[in-house]
Amino acid sequence: MSLPSPIGLLAELTHRCPLGCPYCSNPIDLVRASGELDARAWTRVMQEAADLGAMHVHLSGGEPLTRNDLAEIVNAANVAGLYTNLITSAIGLTPQRLTELKAAGLDHVQISIQGADPARADAVAHFKGAMKTKREAARHVVEEGLALTINAVVHRDNIRDLPQIIDLAQEWGAGRLEVAHVQYHGWALANRAGLMPSRDEFQTAAQVVEEARERLSGDLVIDHVIPDYYGERPKACMGGWGRQVIVVAPDGRALPCHAAASLPGLTFANVKNKSLSEIWKDDAAFQRYRGTSWMPKPCQGCERAEVDWGGCRCQAFALAGDASLTDPVCALSPNHATVAAAIAKDTAAPRAPYRFRRIGG
Ligand code: SF4
Ligand code: SF4
Repeated sequence: MSLPSPIGLLAELTHRCPLGCPYCSNPIDLVRASGELDARAWTRVMQEAADLGAMHVHLSGGEPLTRNDLAEIVNAANVAGLYTNLITSAIGLTPQRLTELKAAGLDHVQISIQGADPARADAVAHFKGAMKTKREAARHVVEEGLALTINAVVHRDNIRDLPQIIDLAQEWGAGRLEVAHVQYHGWALANRAGLMPSRDEFQTAAQVVEEARERLSGDLVIDHVIPDYYGERPKACMGGWGRQVIVVAPDGRALPCHAAASLPGLTFANVKNKSLSEIWKDDAAFQRYRGTSWMPKPCQGCERAEVDWGGCRCQAFALAGDASLTDPVCALSPNHATVAAAIAKDTAAPRAPYRFRRIGG
């Protein structure tokens, strides 16, 4: 099977973030500012990603706006010919900053929200006044003529507010709303008992999205990233290991997915020492779960083997203790019962207090 080019680069520019979302997908062991790649290294990475065939870059983190050299990095991506998407909490997205980023070539802004009710959203973000800042930033993005997506991560505390979240995305002028259920990696896994909605809540949310999609067709595109735990078959995590996306962590480690560093037994090459092309084509960690030859039964020979690529390696490790097993969210997995057990345990108990995300654990 020939090796595809990555479609996109996920550039995790920093792990610094003023917010403390308990569902953050960043690893528990966060990279400190002193360990971050500088703008010169990122400039090289942008060009190497474009040379490798990538078409877009997601500038993510942490909060990318904590970097004073963000405009320089955006400019480098733009010069390399990449479509640039800033994934941001919007804290620090002042009109001046936005103008500077637009001049550097920024194409698209994705603002995350923690809910529709300001007080409760700020409590989840662990940052007073966050919602007000986001609202103002969204207005500036629209005024600047940049494309705006609102990203709402839904969980036990805000899933019943989905109708209000949809209204808010419309009111703020977004062209797209991403309703993303928490995926349990990193901090989200540590907080699973406080975040997991019930099956009824999930099913109601799915109906709300379907109804809104019909009602708002032509005005607002709504993506719905369903929770893996309530699926019968897994998603193709990152489009398949080492198939569509290359992730570069703040310290320069190149990863097939943003959570892969949590897997034991894998060593990831660093862009400081190797080109993205060498890593993508030859690195042992990228080869480890690429394609289908590594697959165990029941994935081996399954008609969906090249559809979902066996699901998520990090989920297999988290739920079954072995990254090389079929993702337990698949109903065909011999470990599928671990998912039902996790749901039953997490939804039966009163909501556990959050462990808010912060550098230093
Ligand atoms: S999920 Fe929250 S804490 Fe994590 S990077 Fe995004 S805004 Fe910051
Ligand atoms: S058995 Fe494997 S390939 Fe088949 S649906 Fe389940 S996870 Fe996907």
